[in-house]
Amino acid sequence: MNKIEHIGIAVKSFDASIPLFEKLLNTSCYKIELVESEQVKTAFFQKGETKIELLESTNSDGVISKYIEKKGEGIHHIAFDVTDIEAEMKRLIAAGFVLLNETPKSGADNKLICFLHPKDTNSVLIELCMEKPAIGK
Ligand code: ZN
Repeated sequence: MNKIEHIGIAVKSFDASIPLFEKLLNTSCYKIELVESEQVKTAFFQKGETKIELLESTNSDGVISKYIEKKGEGIHHIAFDVTDIEAEMKRLIAAGFVLLNETPKSGADNKLICFLHPKDTNSVLIELCMEKPAIGK
């Protein structure tokens, strides 16, 4: 794992939270992206090497809706940048961690991603993410 790539924060409403984080971070949201497979919309802010990713559910039974129902708004996950996601997944499985997906899946912001089961990580949801390789490489 190279560094914290982003921190994911579950919010009820982009209308309220994007202006709030723009004011807080003193920078504009640079991208809003729908991740249909996760029933979630993402909004990104860049601060130095690290991003803040706001997550808003696109429907009332999405994972983010359920999370907010149970725990309220707040930090949802920490994402680490990795150089080789498949190698890192193998290393973590060998070390006894449970992964929530067996193969890397497509995430927001041109990433391949994988989540670890939070039962193994002090209830902190950890995401691995790797920049998608350019096509033809
Ligand atoms: Zn994320």
